[in-house]
Amino acid sequence: NLSDRLERSFKLLKGQGRITEINVAETLKDVRRALLDADVNYKVAKQFTDTVKAKAMGQNVINAIKPGELMVKIVHDELALLMGGETAHVNLSGNPTVILMSGLQGSGKTTMSGKLAKKLKSQNSKRPLLVAADVYRPAAIEQLKVLGEQIDVPVYTEPGNNNPVEIAENAIRHAKVNHFDLVIVDTAGRLAIDEAMMKEIAAIKKAVKPQETLFVVDSMTGQDAVNTAKEFNQTLDFDGVVLTKLDGDTRGGAALSIRTVVDKPIKFVGTGEKLDALDYFHPARMADRILGMGDIVTLVEKAQQQFDEKQARELQRKIAKNQFDFNDFIAQIQQIKKMGNIKDLASMIPGVGKAIKDIDIDDNAFKGIEAIIQSMTAKERSNPDIINSSRRQRIARGSGTSIQEVNRLLKQFEQTRKMMKAASAFKANPAKMMRAM
Ligand code: GDP
Ligand code: MG
Repeated sequence: NLSDRLERSFKLLKGQGRITEINVAETLKDVRRALLDADVNYKVAKQFTDTVKAKAMGQNVINAIKPGELMVKIVHDELALLMGGETAHVNLSGNPTVILMSGLQGSGKTTMSGKLAKKLKSQNSKRPLLVAADVYRPAAIEQLKVLGEQIDVPVYTEPGNNNPVEIAENAIRHAKVNHFDLVIVDTAGRLAIDEAMMKEIAAIKKAVKPQETLFVVDSMTGQDAVNTAKEFNQTLDFDGVVLTKLDGDTRGGAALSIRTVVDKPIKFVGTGEKLDALDYFHPARMADRILGMGDIVTLVEKAQQQFDEKQARELQRKIAKNQFDFNDFIAQIQQIKKMGNIKDLASMIPGVGKAIKDIDIDDNAFKGIEAIIQSMTAKERSNPDIINSSRRQRIARGSGTSIQEVNRLLKQFEQTRKMMKAASAFKANPAKMMRAM
C-alpha cells in the first residue's frame, strides 16, 4: 500500500548527510509512483512531487537533523495542505437549513442523509426532516423511511407524485410550517452520468436553494471518482464533497485528487454502513493515514484485544495490597510479548517510531529478566523480600547472568512495586494520599 511504498522510498534517504538534487529525485520518483498506484490523478501527483521538491531543495539542510525525517515532514504537510489544510465548515445558516445530496446511484447518498441527520440532531441540536426525492425506485423511499425510524427523524414523502422538484419544494414548505430547522433532500442517482439526471438535480437545486449542496462519492471508485466529481461540479457547482466507504483498507487517493481537480473541500467521510460511521474530514489525519504515521488508535485496540480484563482487576487488587510479586511480573512480560512484535507496537506511538527505528528491540530484550525469574523458587517469586545475598548468587548462577544483573532486577522490581502501590493508593483516595506526603 501507499504508506509502505513511501516508507521504502524514504529509507533510500536514510544515512544521507544532506538533501541533494539526486537523492531527492530518486525518492520523489518513488513517491509519485506510489501516489499513482493509490489512484491519485497523474497531474496531481506530478504537481505534488514538484512542490515537495521545491520545498525540500529550499530547506537549510545543514540544520536539518536527518534528510529522511525532513522529507517525511514536508510530504506530510504538503499532503494535508493539498487536501485543504483545515477541516472545512458546514454552512448551517438559513431557516430551515437545506442540504441537497447529489451523486451516482450506490455512492451512499441515502445512508449519508441518515448519518447527517443523526449527527446534526445530536451535536447541533437540529430538528431535521428527511426528504425522499428519489421517485424512481420505491425501495429507495422505503430505505430512507427505515433509516428515519432508526434515528427518530421524520421522512417527507409524496406517494404518487413523481416530480422530485415539486416534492422538494413542498417539503421545504412543510418544514417551515412544522418548525423543522434542517431539511436534507435525498435524490436519485443513475449508474452513470446522464443528461436527464443532471437536469433534474440542477432543477431541484434551483427550486430549494440549498445552503449546502454535497456531492457524495464512493472512495473505492478511484479515478472514476475524479471524473464524476468534475461533471457534477460543472452542473451543480457544489459546496463540498462527501467521501464514502473509506473503511477497511480503501486507498485514500480519491481524496487527494478530487480536492485538487475540482477545488472543493471534502467535508465528511463515511467509514461504514452503520449510522454513526461518519466523520468530519481532517486533512492532517488523512495525511497521517496515507503516510502510516502514529496510528495510536490501532495500538490501543491491539493492546486491548490481548488484555484480559479479569486479570487486570486481579492485578489491581494485588497492587493495592502490595502483593504484586514476580509471578505477576513475569505474567506481565508474557502479556507484552503476546501483543506481537514489540518494535511494531512501539512504533505506532507518535514520536516513538522514528526514535527506535534504528534500535534493535525484540522479544530477546526480556530474555535475561525471564531467566532470572525462572531461576527463583516458587517461594522467592511470591516473597521477593526473602531473596538474600546467598539466594542472589544461586539465582545468578542458575540463570547464567551476573549478581549485578540480579541486583538490578530486584531493585527495579522494588521501585516498580512502590510506584504501583503509590499510584493505586492515590487513585483510591487522593486526599489522604496528599496528606500523607
Ligand atoms: P445511494 O444509492 O447513493 O443512496 O447509496 P446508498 O446509501 O443506498 O448506499 C449504497 C450501499 O453502500 C449500501 O449498501 C450502503 O449500506 C453502503 N454504504 C454507504 N456508505 C457506506 C460506507 O461509508 N461504508 C460502507 N462500507 N458501506 C457504505
Ligand atoms: Mg439512495
